Amino acid sequence: MSDHDVVVVGGGAAGLRAALAIVQAQPQLSVAVVSKVYPMRSHTVSAEGGAAAAIAGDDSLDEHAYDTVSGSDWLCDQDAVEAFVEEAPRELLQLEHWGCPWSRQPDGEVAVRAFGGMKKMRTWFAADKTGFHLLHTLFQTSLRYPQIVRYDEWFATTLLRDENRVRGVVGIELATGRIEAVTGRAVVLCTGGCGRVFPFTTNGNIKTGDGMALAYRAGAPLKDMEFVQYHPTGLPFTGILITEAARAEGGWLLNKDGYRYLQDYDLGTPSPEPVLRSMELGPRDRLSQAFVHEQEKGNTVDTPYGPVVYLDLRHLGEKVIDAKLPFVRELCRAYERIDPVHELVPVRPVQHYMMGGVHTDIDGATGLAGLYAAGEVACVSINGANRLGSNSLPECLVFGRRAGIAAAEYAVAHKGAAPVVEAQVADERRRLEHDLLARRNGRERIADVRTDMQHTMEGSVGIFRDTESLVEGTEKLQELRERFDKATLEDTSRTFNTELVAALELGFMLDVAETMVASALRREESRGAHQRTDFPRRDDTRFLAHSLVSRVPSGAPQVEYLPVTITRWPPGERVYGR
Ligand SMILES: Cc1cc2nc3c(=O)[nH]c(=O)nc-3n(C[C@H](O)[C@H](O)[C@H](O)COP(=O)(O)OP(=O)(O)OC[C@H]3O[C@@H](n4cnc5c(N)ncnc54)[C@H](O)[C@@H]3O)c2cc1C
Repeated sequence: MSDHDVVVVGGGAAGLRAALAIVQAQPQLSVAVVSKVYPMRSHTVSAEGGAAAAIAGDDSLDEHAYDTVSGSDWLCDQDAVEAFVEEAPRELLQLEHWGCPWSRQPDGEVAVRAFGGMKKMRTWFAADKTGFHLLHTLFQTSLRYPQIVRYDEWFATTLLRDENRVRGVVGIELATGRIEAVTGRAVVLCTGGCGRVFPFTTNGNIKTGDGMALAYRAGAPLKDMEFVQYHPTGLPFTGILITEAARAEGGWLLNKDGYRYLQDYDLGTPSPEPVLRSMELGPRDRLSQAFVHEQEKGNTVDTPYGPVVYLDLRHLGEKVIDAKLPFVRELCRAYERIDPVHELVPVRPVQHYMMGGVHTDIDGATGLAGLYAAGEVACVSINGANRLGSNSLPECLVFGRRAGIAAAEYAVAHKGAAPVVEAQVADERRRLEHDLLARRNGRERIADVRTDMQHTMEGSVGIFRDTESLVEGTEKLQELRERFDKATLEDTSRTFNTELVAALELGFMLDVAETMVASALRREESRGAHQRTDFPRRDDTRFLAHSLVSRVPSGAPQVEYLPVTITRWPPGERVYGR
């Protein structure tokens, strides 16, 4: 057993920012960073477009806040949004001081670009590899602190509890199969999202909702799980993201007739700046929904990998593409064998981000003493029913820091004897060794159950949902759980047992999937990314509220509601004029 003061689970932007905040606030504390992959392989590394923070002369914190609130369809908590917009510029400057190479204008000022749903240019970027530079900056800064002890390639399987306080995790060291506790007086979950619950996603293989399920199993409710973001421009087959920056730099979306079909929808942004008036820069939920309507009208192009429309960048010219979108060109060449300088890029909506997550307050505290969460795993919430592009990276920084400081204070206030958790560790060892590794006679394969779950989720809680699809999804998930219980593990080795990891991840995903379908079924309205064809209108009387889903003793999800916090912006219509 290894004992620390605080255990951070996750080495992405939120996890590393939290770890740095802890050792800067309380240098005497020892911090474990447990990560199932080497930190630089966290999904943060793949973020392309940028990070939003209002700094330009004609911009203001209020405008960033208002865009975020209206973009969220009024489902965010406005106190959280106000803290977010205020701290975001400070965080991006802090990164600058730690060495992040933000792109510059010729006069040396930090460059900002337009992004969907933002009425001002406020997205900082490091070419189109923002996530890589941001994560690298945090990672190299973390190396300066000997108090930060890394557990790379350790897979957390459960949370440890002691007198109702969370006291650490049990983890498998993947290289050896060793099962050990990593304990502390507080735990910060920074495990990212759960895109792999869906078949077609921009998310890396590791995004399997582990932290959401860990918290849910331990008794912490999950919030707004019905809100799933689709990004309008994924490459067919791979789901690789073509960043919103491509449209921000002036790219167009064309249907099969070469027509900019978005002009037929209410999507543009009412902005004085010409580039921001572009209808291609409407918010992601509406653009993805417009795609489905075009498909219904027969205006998309069928390919072996599903229907597509085209992203046209040709008019931007080689110089702009190479300067501002080099990675887009690289991805198109490598994965589609096309050159966007001369050819149209086929794209279709792809699952991208999870607005919902572990319910926390503005300091990352969950309902469980000693348990904190930040980043995509958490729902604070600033994203409500729809996240604006480039708000997630600064969210990881702002709330990673806040959660780190709060967890550090908690750890200091709860100094004391080492936790008594041996019995739980022994139970977990037994579960992993006997229940999972000894599963030799099952009839089902993990990969088959996973594929069926992903297709069930797309059919049930995809871009549009209705009662029928959701009830069917609920029933299918129950069947899938029974099949999962009968699944077999063929690999019993200790060294990098990826089959065991896949089984544990599938167990987490099934829990998360159930909470998504249950929350979507209960919300009888359409708001942001949650579009019910049988309840097409927003209903503020009944549903201007967060859904909170908890696990009742039978194991089933139970949904309740919590009012949203409104400080300065009363609910209005989400109008995007042209
Ligand atoms: C392709 C792509 C492009 C994006 N572009 C942008 C953008 O331009 N701007 C923007 O604002 N947002 C963007 N996003 C969203 C944003 O990148 C993510 O929401 C954010 O990076 C999430 O960071 P995180 O720290 O919460 O989690 P992650 O970076 O996903 O890190 C999760 C960490 O948790 C660890 N972990 C998970 N489960 C376990 C477990 N069981 N045991 C141990 N460790 C575990 C992992 O090892 C990893 O270190 C993009 C997302 C994608 C997928």
